Amino acid sequence: MNFLALGLETSCDETAVACVDSNRRILAQSIHSQLDEHAVYGGVVPEIAARAHLSRLRPLIEQTLADAAVGKDSIDMIAATTGPGLIGGVIVGATMAKALALAWNKPFIAVNHLEAHALTARLSDGAAFPYLLLLVSGGHCQLLAVAGIGDYRVYGSTMDDALGEAFDKTARVMGLGYPGGPAIERLARRGDSTRFALPRPLSGRGGCDFSFAGLKTAVRQAVERLPAGAADDQAAADLCASFQAACADILAERCRNAIQRFAAEFGRCERLIIAGGVAANLALRERLRDEAAQYGATLIAPPPALCTDNAAMVAWAGLERFQAGQRDRIDVSPRPRWPLDGDDMRLPREAGGLRV
Ligand code: AMP
Ligand code: MG
Repeated sequence: MNFLALGLETSCDETAVACVDSNRRILAQSIHSQLDEHAVYGGVVPEIAARAHLSRLRPLIEQTLADAAVGKDSIDMIAATTGPGLIGGVIVGATMAKALALAWNKPFIAVNHLEAHALTARLSDGAAFPYLLLLVSGGHCQLLAVAGIGDYRVYGSTMDDALGEAFDKTARVMGLGYPGGPAIERLARRGDSTRFALPRPLSGRGGCDFSFAGLKTAVRQAVERLPAGAADDQAAADLCASFQAACADILAERCRNAIQRFAAEFGRCERLIIAGGVAANLALRERLRDEAAQYGATLIAPPPALCTDNAAMVAWAGLERFQAGQRDRIDVSPRPRWPLDGDDMRLPREAGGLRV
């Protein structure tokens, strides 16, 4: 049986719609990035994001259905990110999905955005459970064991900033604009990563938690010592390379600890999967690929367009839950916070679906 899902993503600054089937085919997807709307403010402004989602979502849905060449009758279910995220945007997407579900008489699935990232490698690479997941994005930084749909065991999280946030803040103090990740990666390619000695917080201290505050402060202090206008010259490239190398070391060490814990719990760790916007960074991917290989694990990294926020992953997570028998109530509340390891993630959700 092949099912077809329409997925909506509106939890941050990307308005996205996708049509995906349960044979892992992405029939069509459309995305509108609000970068230009937020760039002048140096970060995402929630109110502006919510209004932009509202004006863009409907045309994107129409375009996606047209691109996929499917009518509403072929759609089996409608999935939308219902949290966590900026609540104004989440409300826009979830309410649109509910309205379509009611009007078209289709099931509605409330998707946890983090679960959508966590399951992306099953859409892109058909990854089998269980696997170890490193989720690194603008808002999240976690290592977790993914044992099955709804069965997530958090090994560690960040104690301060998310990794994407550390990239963005570092780029900001260097005057590189927003978002910082791609700019830093580009400059780092021609930089000397040994020029600046930057700290690796929590290094040698076991466990799988992260901390980037000390690293961020060290970069700011290094910038303050640079000659004015240095953002264009070699020093800036060297600082980007040094920062990225520190991030790679931190991730590699934390993943090493996580692989060992995973192997103790599941017998062995065959797959390390990296997801979230920072997973688009090729230098970090290469480092983690080497690290995983040393422990007999294969790194799986979905294509960059499926790592950053997108609706194909939301449609896919909806399909996984739909096929597991889940249907959600139309009065489910959108949530700004929604941890992956809470009881309400487990299957089966109680009769009637997610509680309000
Ligand atoms: P997300 O929160 O999943 O939408 O991802 C956005 C975050 O990913 C932002 O903090 C970006 O700076 C970061 N990011 C995107 N591309 C890269 C990259 N090539 N290297 C590092 N960080 C990146
Ligand atoms: Mg995300």
